[in-house]
Amino acid sequence: MTGYSETDLINGRPPFPYWPADRIDENTRLLQQELQGRSPAGGIEVKVQRKDGSSFDSRMYVSPLIDPKGQQTGWMTSMTNITEAKRIRDQLSASHERFTTVLEGLDAAVSVLSVHKNELLFANRSYRLWFGADAQGHTLLAHSATSKLFVPEPEDEADGLSGLPTQELTEAGAHPREVFIESLQMWFDVRSRYLQWTDGRLAQMLIATDVTARRRVEELAQQQAEKAQVTSRLITMGEMASSVAHELNQPLTAINNYCNGMVSRVQVGAITNEDLIAALQKTARQAERAGQIIHRIRAFVKRSEPQRQVASAAAIVDDSVELAGIELRRRKVSIQTYVAQHLPPLLVDPILIEQVLLNLLKNSADAIDNAKLPPSRRHIELRVVPRHTPDEGGVIEFSVTDTGPGMKEEVIARLYEAFFSTKAEGMGIGLSLCRSIIESHRGRMRAQNLYNGASVTGCRFAFTLPVDLTTRAEPLPVPDVPEETAAANPNATSS
Ligand code: ADP
Repeated sequence: MTGYSETDLINGRPPFPYWPADRIDENTRLLQQELQGRSPAGGIEVKVQRKDGSSFDSRMYVSPLIDPKGQQTGWMTSMTNITEAKRIRDQLSASHERFTTVLEGLDAAVSVLSVHKNELLFANRSYRLWFGADAQGHTLLAHSATSKLFVPEPEDEADGLSGLPTQELTEAGAHPREVFIESLQMWFDVRSRYLQWTDGRLAQMLIATDVTARRRVEELAQQQAEKAQVTSRLITMGEMASSVAHELNQPLTAINNYCNGMVSRVQVGAITNEDLIAALQKTARQAERAGQIIHRIRAFVKRSEPQRQVASAAAIVDDSVELAGIELRRRKVSIQTYVAQHLPPLLVDPILIEQVLLNLLKNSADAIDNAKLPPSRRHIELRVVPRHTPDEGGVIEFSVTDTGPGMKEEVIARLYEAFFSTKAEGMGIGLSLCRSIIESHRGRMRAQNLYNGASVTGCRFAFTLPVDLTTRAEPLPVPDVPEETAAANPNATSS
């Protein structure tokens, strides 16, 4: 072990040749201890220098040498090279230290709970800070109602319960969830894993990351987006104000005419009860029409929480076309709608989709009107058809095609930019909002010019909405839509 020969060592006196030069004092002291019989039973750790100058760690055990008569005649020392063992031990403790430093330094709460005994096996600093030293926090995080369902990543599914018994594990779930802890007023992203603890027991590990700040920002952004949507609907209506006034003027004028007619005929006693009733009924119908226009506009601009609900594409189209019709009639632009039959129901906020359609229809009418196109080119087609694409799966596609002047290259590039507008009074927020509404419904929006040879004949805006699989089981009754033929809907509103 030392590289010294027997003759080098036998009869030697301290300091022995294998004592490192810088440890002579220390070794002398240890030797004194030995000779006084005070060496620890577990041995002592010493550095040993080989003849070639290299050194190693050794453990030295000292015991008295007793002769058959029971007399101590000397000391016996044995030495083991512990370099390897010491290296492994040092490595282990360094890695343990690194492990605890990382876990303790994490901003996330890490806890491990024994599944069978409900006993906390491990809790890091953040856990102790937020939840104290008991298992209650772990239980709260594990069992709180899920606030937001995530689409599980495939790797989570694969790893979550790897190789462990599946009973009683399924309930707690391995997918990340966001949990609100009332007492702390904090949001946590909670991920859980089942693992076999060091003693073989089945345990659940939770990693809860504080996502309160992100949630607050999201909530704020959500509120702002809602405000922007409502504002934009108000702007649309503001822009349509003169059309609405014009539209309301018709029933109001009719009511006025009926009333004046009745007054003069009643005054001269030249009206029968039957005629009077018929005139009153007509008056009431006109008032009802005016009321409907106002009701529709109110429903459209009303500030309401965005609400996803089962909705039919046909009903959304009907409502949008009715509102847009006010504007289209004034601008002498005709519209044809075609809604395919037996469309699956959508899970959307119908007012928001209506808002998108109204924006697209209004943009088309603006484009046609601003270009002062002749009657043959004052036409819009709205189509709703089911589609299946490899990357989107089953969707319903809404498209608005116009016969307007189309868009220049530089306009296409900046189409969805907020506040980009080519119109004198344009706000330029319509399309950017439309796209964010569609994308928040997991749909896509596209715009393109239509050509006949090299000349532009119009443009087409289309968006898709995914068909929610869970609602497919019970299709909504499809409201009155024309028979599915290649022809467009004859039920068109035209000037
Ligand atoms: P705004 O209507 O207030 O200008 P939008 O975001 O709705 O804002 O539209 C941005 C721009 O896109 C419009 O100013 C216009 O130049 C262009 N655009 C939108 N729709 C059409 C269309 N159907 N035909 C031609 N250009 C269009």
